[in-house]
Amino acid sequence: MFHYDRALKITRADVAVDATHRQPRGFISHAHSDHMARHELALCTPATGLLYRLRMRGGAVMEIPYRRPLEFGDVRLTTYPAGHCLGSAMLLAEDGEQSLLYTGDFKLGASATAEPAELPHAEILVMETTYGVSRYRMPPREEVLDKFERLIRITLDAGRPAVVFAYALGKAQEVTRLLTDRGLAVRQHPAIAAVSQVYHQCGVDLGPYELLTHENCNQPAVAIVPPRSRNSGAAFDFDAPVKFAVTGWSIDESTRYRQGVDYALPISDHADFDELFVAVERVQPRVIYCTHGPESFVDRLREAGHEAFPLGKAWQKRLF
Ligand SMILES: [Zn+2]
Repeated sequence: MFHYDRALKITRADVAVDATHRQPRGFISHAHSDHMARHELALCTPATGLLYRLRMRGGAVMEIPYRRPLEFGDVRLTTYPAGHCLGSAMLLAEDGEQSLLYTGDFKLGASATAEPAELPHAEILVMETTYGVSRYRMPPREEVLDKFERLIRITLDAGRPAVVFAYALGKAQEVTRLLTDRGLAVRQHPAIAAVSQVYHQCGVDLGPYELLTHENCNQPAVAIVPPRSRNSGAAFDFDAPVKFAVTGWSIDESTRYRQGVDYALPISDHADFDELFVAVERVQPRVIYCTHGPESFVDRLREAGHEAFPLGKAWQKRLF
C-alpha cells in the first residue's frame, strides 16, 4: 500500500506526499517550500491551495477539506489540522486493511493563528521529529511572550524600531497576532502582508497592523520581516534597530549569534520533544517512521518500547 521513492508514496492512490520534485499527483501538507513542488495536480486543504497558488503563481489543485474523506481508488484520504500554520494538515490514508497517518510539520501547543492539531489513530505513524532531542523543551509560552513584550516596549520607549525576523508564512502571522493582542503597533514587510491576505480570506483575524514602508520603517513600532531580507537588496534601512529572532532553536544560546540578532525567543510552530511523545500516545501506532529530525529520536522511541525506524530504506524493507 505504501512505499518510499525519494518521497513517501501512497502506492494504490498514486499520490506522493510532500515531494519536493514535480509529481503527477502530490499531496502538500502545508505551503512551506521544503514540503512542495509545482505538481501536475496538487492535493491539499483549501487554505493550502490558496497559499500554493500564491507561491507557485497558479497550478491545479484538488481540495481536501479537513475531516472530509476523499476516495482515491480503494484508498480513503482524510486531512486533519496539524496546528503548524494556516491550512497545515496531517494525512490519514486507509485501505480497509491498514491505516497510515502522516503528520507533516505539526505542533500540539497553543497557536493564535492555526487550528489546533487533531491526531486520529493509525497503525503506521510517519512523523516529523524536528525537535527530537531532549533539550528542545519549550518554556511556558506566556512567560516567553511576557518577556518578548517587555523587550519590545523597552525598545520602542527608547525610540528605536524593533525588527522581528519571522518566516513569511505562519510565524509572521502568529507573531503579528500575538503582538497586536498585546496592544503593540505592528508593521508587516510586503512579502508577509501578501501571505496575510490569504489568512484574512480564510477568516483568520491578525488584529490591526500596517504595511511596512521606507517612510514609516524608523518610527517606533514592531517591523516583521522575512529572515532572508536581512541580507537582500530589498532590505529596509532601519536606524539602530533592536533585532529579534522567534524560533524554537532559541533554546540553543548560539542561535542569537548565528542569526545575528540581539534577542532570540523560543516561539515555535513545531512540536517540542515532549509533544512528540504526546503525539505518539494519541495515535497509538503499531510502528513509527521518523522524518525531518535527528535519527537519535528513533532510539528514544525504541527505548520507550516503540517499534521505530527512520523513514527511507528501512521503510521499504519493512513493508515489502
Ligand atoms: Zn513547515
